[in-house]
Formats: sequence, C-alpha cells, structure tokens
Amino acid sequence: LKKFFPVKKSLLNFNKEQTFVQAVNDVSFTLFKGETYGLVGESGCGKSTTGRTLLKLTNPTEGQALYNGKDIFKISNQELRKVRQDIQMVFQDPYSSLNPRKRIGNTLEEPLVIHNIGSAKERTEIVMEILSTVGLQLEHYYRYPHEFSGGQRQRIGLARALILNPKILIMDEPVSALDVSIQSQILNLLKKIQSELNLSYLFISHDMSVVRHISDRIGVMYLGKLVEEAPTDVLFAEPLHPYTKALLSAVPVPNLETKRERIILKGDLPSPMNPPSGCVFHTRCPFAEERCKIEIPQKKMITNEHNVACHLYDK
Ligand code: SF4
Ligand code: MG
Repeated sequence: LKKFFPVKKSLLNFNKEQTFVQAVNDVSFTLFKGETYGLVGESGCGKSTTGRTLLKLTNPTEGQALYNGKDIFKISNQELRKVRQDIQMVFQDPYSSLNPRKRIGNTLEEPLVIHNIGSAKERTEIVMEILSTVGLQLEHYYRYPHEFSGGQRQRIGLARALILNPKILIMDEPVSALDVSIQSQILNLLKKIQSELNLSYLFISHDMSVVRHISDRIGVMYLGKLVEEAPTDVLFAEPLHPYTKALLSAVPVPNLETKRERIILKGDLPSPMNPPSGCVFHTRCPFAEERCKIEIPQKKMITNEHNVACHLYDK
C-alpha cells in the first residue's frame, strides 16, 4: 500500500470523535493461506486504515492489494463484490451494527438472501450450523441482540462474517472490548475455526499479548509505517526495532529471569497527519542519530523471515 492521504471521516460515515483517517504510507506485507498475521501498534498508527483499505472501504491513492493475482484496487465493482464475500471484516463491537428489532437468526440469514443462496429451509440450516460453529445454541436463533453478553455478541459478529463461507477474515480489535477471560475463549475459538475452515486471518490489535496468542507472524506499525516484521516467536525473542523493543518491554513476562528492562518512550505520539521527517520514530527513539532526522530507513532483510526498517541495521 502506498500513500493514503487523509480523507474526511465524516464522508465515510465514521465515528465523529476523529475527523481524519490515519495516513498510511509504504506498508507492504503478505498474508499466507491458513496463517494469522498480526498487525500491531498504538492507536492512530494506521492499522485500521490498512485493514479497511484492503477492501476499499477507505480509498487508496496509490498501491496494490493482490488477491488471487488480481489487484483489488483495480477490479470492477462486480468483482469487488465477490472479493468482499471472500474477505470479511470483524469489528470490535458487532452490537452497534446489529438491528435491535431483528432476531439474530434473521440478521444472520440476510447475506444469504441478498446473494440468493439456498431455499428458506436451507438458509435456516446454514445459520443453525454457523451458530454451532461459533459455540452458540440453536435457541439463540430466535433471540434479540440485547439478550446477549459481550462475548456472545462477538460470536454473533463472527457468525455473520462466516455465513458466506469466506477465505479471509480481517479482524479489527475483535477482543479489545472483552474481559480477559472472555478474550481467551474467543481467541481459542478463532484458532479452532481457522483450522476447521482453513481460513487466513489479518488480526489487528494494539495489545501485544493478544497478538502473541493468536499470530503466526507479526508486523509492527508506527505512524503509518511498517517498522518490523517477523514470526511471532522470533519477534518476542529478538525484537530489533527500538519501537518494537519498547512495546515488548511493556508486556508482562511470566518468567522473571527473562524480564526485559522497561523502555519508556520520551514525548507523545506525533500527529499522524504531520509525521516527523526521516525516520518517523526519531522524535521518541533512544538511539536516534543525526541521520535519522533526515534519511528514511529502508526495509532490511535480517533473515528471509525477519525484516526491520532502522538505520542501526544498515551495516
Ligand atoms: Fe531510532 Fe534511527 Fe532506528 Fe529510527 S532509524 S528507529 S530513529 S535508530
Ligand atoms: Mg483502530
């Protein structure tokens, strides 16, 4: 993805607190079949914009999103509709998008009706099956949204994403609104569903522990840039980018001997609309040198599965 210029959020019908969509620049990654790719970073770093842009819910100004060899940014509207069947989004709070006056079963059935799939009886069967896939009971078919707990609502959100038999789920902070014990239930459910249905996940979160629990690989974002990418165990054992190190130093580690020194970042997160010159992290980096203010660090391959964008690794 290249250069997404800020777009007025009001035009996109977003929440009113923030007026602008985070600018994302030069973010490039691959999601492999059957894997979970965790996209992590502080709020405002462009994770959500990246996820939304992949489905053209936010319009890119430049770049490519290749799916089955075709560029999602260039395909016809008809092809885009098909892609949006294959790639579904799951959000933090599915409740706000559920019709309070409709029974859950009917809400879940809607996409099947729209896409003309099955007879009425078959559609009910598909919905019943999806309900059991996400760990809900058949009686839940007849209930209304307000009758469900937070965890159950996220199961409904998941059921709705799964109803059209997708290949990829893009999940934006799917467990962030839930209690920790419910979080792990949902994460385990996600893993189970992934292996049963051979799904690929793009998992967006600000929470390092959550991302660690679910991801095969992790990409770390800071101010609209991807600064480091590695398999989960490699990233946690050997973080290279100073920002990744700072993020990880704030994650509690069970074994005290491996406890990392806490790195406290100086200053606040700069405005995403006006990012610093050179390395976008230089205003907060404990290792910043003169050149960091001027030169943009390029992505360097440390191994074939670990890369980092930082001048410390230029040599
Ligand atoms: Fe820090 Fe410089 Fe590396 Fe940026 S390029 S992370 S400022 S050392
Ligand atoms: Mg977000």
